[in-house]
Amino acid sequence: MTNLLDLTLPELEAWLRDHLGEPGFRAVQIWQWMWQKLARDFTEMTNVSRACRERLAGLARIVWPEVESVAESRDGTTKFLLRLEDGALVETVLIPSDSREGVRRWTQCLSSQVGCAMGCTFCATGQAGFERQMSMAEILGQILVARKHLGDARPDRPVLRNLVFMGMGEPLLNLRQVMRSLECLNNDKGLNFSPRRITVSTCGIEKGLQELGESGLAYLAVSLHAPTQQLRERIMPKAARWPLDDLVRALKSYPLKTRERITLEYLLLGGVNDGPEQARDLAKLVADLKGKLNLIVYNPTDGAPYAAPDEERILAFEQYLWKRRITAIVRKSKGQDISAACGQLKAARTSGVPAPAGP
Ligand code: SAH
Ligand code: SF4
Repeated sequence: MTNLLDLTLPELEAWLRDHLGEPGFRAVQIWQWMWQKLARDFTEMTNVSRACRERLAGLARIVWPEVESVAESRDGTTKFLLRLEDGALVETVLIPSDSREGVRRWTQCLSSQVGCAMGCTFCATGQAGFERQMSMAEILGQILVARKHLGDARPDRPVLRNLVFMGMGEPLLNLRQVMRSLECLNNDKGLNFSPRRITVSTCGIEKGLQELGESGLAYLAVSLHAPTQQLRERIMPKAARWPLDDLVRALKSYPLKTRERITLEYLLLGGVNDGPEQARDLAKLVADLKGKLNLIVYNPTDGAPYAAPDEERILAFEQYLWKRRITAIVRKSKGQDISAACGQLKAARTSGVPAPAGP
């Protein structure tokens, strides 16, 4: 049976016409029930005739990912382990930020694949390998779960403000489903996230980067993590198959919106890429890019060959970049007490280490 969350609005229109002979406005009604009013059951759709609802129930379903566990950190960061229909597990994380008026807003970190084939040496997801692609219903289903959890039922005043594709997986290697998801997100009768509220993070995949840029459907973040090709080959060998110089050249011609800057992610690994020499090379590498650097403090994962960088080196690294007039901001991982770095909760679950208790 078709999961209706797998259809874009034009596809839903065609599906309803072909299967039930329903007019176009019916698709908009059902679409709003699913994406704005968080309906999971056709019986809730009270402006749709009973006959139509009954026929729908015989042909289609609305399937959300199931919440396997929820863990809330002391800082409010909330991590969900989700079970997909075939039993596959993925993670999504909600990160709070409080406005000056004290209103709590949230950013959601989304997964795009079950596992990841890129095998970056510091990443728990990469080390566990690739299982399968996620469907659009599974990608966007993470948002439905989060909105339900947050009681976020007012589309005109959403508390879930921003989305980042920084969970499990390489979004540009699941290009078709990610692009379809971005199109649906953009729809103002549905989830209604403008491209400025969405960031897609990639380790750098040539074809996908070009397509994402042309679509203009999200902001871009790129995981650099090393300032030279040689070092990048060591810490992210598969991503480095696209040479760093070529990646940077592609970023220079990447189409940006007004005031948009590319987020350049640089994971600080203790004693590996956090020294003065790397700071100098990095400053040179990004000098001509319209970007801002996020320096991410490595969150050690079990069995990984890296250590967290020490405070002094982080500070010196940041200061060097500022002196070169490069915007660099240090990001400490939130939710460390709940293993909130990408892939860590699932790694704990599948290796038999007890997962953190729910709230
Ligand atoms: N595949 C994409 C998006 C998912 S990874 C990409 O690589 O950009 C998102 C971010 O999580 C990456 O920037 C990665 O560096 C970071 N990350 C992975 N493992 C981490 C860890 N142990 N500590 C801190 N950040 C980590
Ligand atoms: Fe995949 Fe990103 Fe992890 Fe690398 S850092 S293995 S690209 S999820």
